[in-house]
Amino acid sequence: MDSLWQMLAAVSPRLDWDFWKCVGWMGNTVFFSRFMVQWYYTEKRRQVVVPSAFWWLSLAGSFLLFLYGLHLGDLVFIFAYVFTWIPYLRNLVIHRRHKAAQQVCAACETTCLPVAHFCHHCGLRLQPS
Ligand SMILES: [Zn+2]
Repeated sequence: MDSLWQMLAAVSPRLDWDFWKCVGWMGNTVFFSRFMVQWYYTEKRRQVVVPSAFWWLSLAGSFLLFLYGLHLGDLVFIFAYVFTWIPYLRNLVIHRRHKAAQQVCAACETTCLPVAHFCHHCGLRLQPS
């Protein structure tokens, strides 16, 4: 482990690496990675998509940054992340409920929207559950 610290210190001598710096940088990395995930899914589907992974990464990244802020004792940092978990969790709950409410076509097993009356793939009338 000492060699990893030495290597990191050699690569970036201005950064004073310690456990809490790693927590802070991991938080930054996880928090930033959510944009890459969201961008990937948006490009893949050619429409704006916010996958549940975005909210999980938001939750994890903001928690790590919150811990880092606590370690620093910096109120600006702490309050920047202390309440962000609320919309992240709420979006995960809504996403889970929406996914559970989706209908599966009996004929072709295509997943259809909860409000759909007909399968968008084969046209079969969907039976409300
Ligand atoms: Zn179908």
